[in-house]
Amino acid sequence: MAVVAEEEVIIVGAGQSGIAVAACLSLRGVRSLVLERDDCVGSLWRKRAYDRLHLHLAKKYCALPHLPHPDEAPTYLPRDDFARYLDGYAARFAVRTRLRREVRSARFDAGSGRWEVEAVDLATGRPEAYAARFLVVASGENDEKFVPEVPGLEAFPGPVVHAAEYRSAEGMRGKAVLVVGCGNSGMEIAYDLAAAGAVTSIAVRSELHLVSKEIWNVAMALYGYHVPAWVIDKLVLLMCAVVFGDTARHGLRRPAVGPFTLKLTTPAYPVFDVGTYAKIRSGEVRVLPAAVKSVRGNVVEFADGGRHPFDAIVLATGYRSTVRRWLKSEDGLIGDDGMAARGYPEHWKGANGLYCAGMVRRGIYGSCEDAELIAGDISELLLRPKQQDQGDAAAAAAHTNGS
Ligand SMILES: Cc1cc2nc3c(=O)[nH]c(=O)nc-3n(C[C@H](O)[C@H](O)[C@H](O)COP(=O)(O)OP(=O)(O)OC[C@H]3O[C@@H](n4cnc5c(N)ncnc54)[C@H](O)[C@@H]3O)c2cc1C
Repeated sequence: MAVVAEEEVIIVGAGQSGIAVAACLSLRGVRSLVLERDDCVGSLWRKRAYDRLHLHLAKKYCALPHLPHPDEAPTYLPRDDFARYLDGYAARFAVRTRLRREVRSARFDAGSGRWEVEAVDLATGRPEAYAARFLVVASGENDEKFVPEVPGLEAFPGPVVHAAEYRSAEGMRGKAVLVVGCGNSGMEIAYDLAAAGAVTSIAVRSELHLVSKEIWNVAMALYGYHVPAWVIDKLVLLMCAVVFGDTARHGLRRPAVGPFTLKLTTPAYPVFDVGTYAKIRSGEVRVLPAAVKSVRGNVVEFADGGRHPFDAIVLATGYRSTVRRWLKSEDGLIGDDGMAARGYPEHWKGANGLYCAGMVRRGIYGSCEDAELIAGDISELLLRPKQQDQGDAAAAAAHTNGS
């Protein structure tokens, strides 16, 4: 296939990670091209997030490099405001994007020293070939919804939607709805449903750290002052005990490891209470503390033997990366699960000019750090030969003058 575009840097994905890398490169004078499957930048926030979603962290932790949120912006940005911010960001730094381009394959050609990238123009179905010296994987840790295999689920008579498709509780008033999964999406969707008058249950299989946004902001601030994680954990748990009491009494057991240590060392993120806990305490949201085992008709069977009928099911069961389907590289940068194979902060750079951004579950904050690191590294590699040439020329001139 003939190469349609020769680029210095190709970035796959125009979410916050991809456009942040492009902007940081542009500020260093390096041109890049972002290939994006969807028809907009930041598609996660526009097409895969429910209406009432607000960012979990205060706006100062959710700004991409070199463009803070304005003073008048709310502390916790609504989904649509953040999507608009990403549009403005891409425009401000003149990020070059090709939308509706799905990357199907990327491999390094040792002969030419370039990445050969094959994409499809989804508007026309035409294949396209690109070549670049550097390739940045920014295609997201949440690219594809994950649906667990539950025997009988396919025959459930009511609606079954994944959190990625859930927008609002419209039409759910008075219906018995089961939310499967107790991460941030599951807990917030349970709140949304209960507030709209649905008879809401949430299946809570695992342990979780329930925190408030305000408590977590204190934790983030302390981390900024290099307070050790174990000290932050103790303070966070103390504040949580005051605010929530013993959450285990209501079916929300906390892990033995503290929330900040867990966040730093594993993909587990705390759950930010948006009002769900009050609804659990008041009985408006029922906690079913077991995994879903199977479905028979409209009855859901749980691992602890419980059986309950429902009218609808929302699967807040997570997402997965799809990088391994198209990235043909065994350099160890990306693991079998499509996420960065090495932990933070060793995660972002592979061999032969390969990088990844936003692939270690560090949220928007992580996207920013990755963007600066990657752009810094690429620009240095590009400048190095030029500086060497200039140095050689200067040395040659000095030699000539001196002789
Ligand atoms: C519901 C929800 C709420 C969240 N809330 C927060 C929050 O409040 N704070 C926070 O810090 N984090 C939050 N997160 C985490 C959030 O996912 C990440 O912070 C962020 O989306 C990652 O950005 P990204 O650019 O790396 O990936 P994405 O936003 O997923 O962008 C990746 C892009 O790559 C494109 N792509 C994928 N494969 C290909 C391909 N083969 N070819 C071309 N394009 C491709 C996709 O279409 C997508 O647009 C939330 C996540 C979810 C799902």
